[in-house]
Amino acid sequence: MANDAGSAAAPLALSSAHRRLLIEQTADLIERHYETLPDRPVAPEVSPQRVRQHVRRYEFTSANDPAAVVDDVARMLGDWTVHVTHPRYFGLFNPTPAWMGVLGETLAAAYNPQLAAWSHAAAANEIERHVVSFIGERVGFPRGDVAGSFTTGGAEANLTGTLLALVRRIPEVADDGVRAAAGQPVLYASEESHLAWIKIARVCGLGSNAVRLVPVDARLRMDLGALQDAVEADRRAGNVPFLLIGTAGTTGAGIIDPLPELAAVAAERELSFHVDAAWAGAAVLSEAGRAFLDGIERADSVTIDPHKWMSAPMGAGIFLCTDLDGLHRTFDVATRYMPPALGETIDPYTHSIQWSRRFIGLKVFMALATLGVDGYARQIDRDCELGDELRSSLGADGWRVVNDTPLPVVCFAEPAATDAFHRAVVDDVVGSGAAWISPVQLGDTVAIRACITSHRTTSEDVQALRAALAAARERVHG
Ligand SMILES: *Cc1c(COP(=O)(O)O)cnc(C)c1O
Repeated sequence: MANDAGSAAAPLALSSAHRRLLIEQTADLIERHYETLPDRPVAPEVSPQRVRQHVRRYEFTSANDPAAVVDDVARMLGDWTVHVTHPRYFGLFNPTPAWMGVLGETLAAAYNPQLAAWSHAAAANEIERHVVSFIGERVGFPRGDVAGSFTTGGAEANLTGTLLALVRRIPEVADDGVRAAAGQPVLYASEESHLAWIKIARVCGLGSNAVRLVPVDARLRMDLGALQDAVEADRRAGNVPFLLIGTAGTTGAGIIDPLPELAAVAAERELSFHVDAAWAGAAVLSEAGRAFLDGIERADSVTIDPHKWMSAPMGAGIFLCTDLDGLHRTFDVATRYMPPALGETIDPYTHSIQWSRRFIGLKVFMALATLGVDGYARQIDRDCELGDELRSSLGADGWRVVNDTPLPVVCFAEPAATDAFHRAVVDDVVGSGAAWISPVQLGDTVAIRACITSHRTTSEDVQALRAALAAARERVHG
């Protein structure tokens, strides 16, 4: 079809017929990708030079046929991507997106509501509020008290929690900054926590030295004695402990910190208690899964990333708390150009980090609305069963499982083998294209990590990974 984008009157406008054609073409390309992917390598070989050379052919000096650009982009993504939508991607929490989530993204982009002020996007704002409340209630926060917002991901949600905790503990910080504190504010997370905390401390003006990475016990959970000692030492040194973070599902090994005990320490020491459940928080949707997270309901705030185990397309995080006033003290500002707030309604820009806001929550709403909570529960339970199958299969093959978690992330090692051996096995498996797995540093040693990440993964894929590992092990041993 002719490139009608170039008409003099409105260069960006396409005809209705042309729009439909492009959507159909895109749908065809996606379907072909999904159908053929299981027979292709999970991780293609690629050099930066090769990709750059291709991308640089676009000099933007002339117009291109939209259909040709769509084709080319799909080819680039197909050839030069680690395929997280592959059934044998046993990777880093990056899901095969729920199809209703993909449609949610499409609708959000096409209608493009601006969520900053409620009055500009009533439908979108109420849909997001409804989903945030629902997830908050599953966490165990009292119905009607849930506050929070969608975020781009877990890092932004954790940043939100840190800022809120700072302002709750040291109210002057909101206007005078962290130098208003009587001493250096410090926060506590385990050595196995996500290192976004380091960046967050920098963003908040606290500096990375404000993060206490508390040692873990033999099961890789935050050591309570070490935590008490660290808080005590900070108090004596004139520092100002303000935030304790429990990780529910560590990124490396899926470890759940002892949440009830941490909640008790936080209460006793007057610290805010944040639970970072970016990945495993989705387990609140399943009855069995919710039990793994016992104690999460005692948190002051919680991070859950729908773009991990809820299989929303990236990016989608949720920040949850019950302190709407605190959020306003942390984020509200008066402006002369925003539409005035309507009565009871709440403008997101007054209680969260973002200003202009994309309709992040739609993809989560559409998946929840179609699957229902039971559909999600079945997926979560099924993933846990596949994790158990992988764990027992690897055990039967002589691997030692080194992490202790009911969640579907399995870290394993060959007894007495070196870090280099484990890295070589990973490289061999990934290089063969059979599956995607990764090395993981746990304490002083390197193990191999495999996580049930895609809803396309079946028992056959688990057994294919097992076979690929056995073959790789033979080759590396030589
Ligand atoms: C993924 C993850 C994060 C970071 O979240 P993003 O969505 O990548 O910003 C933080 N904490 C934990 C435990 C995570 O697994």
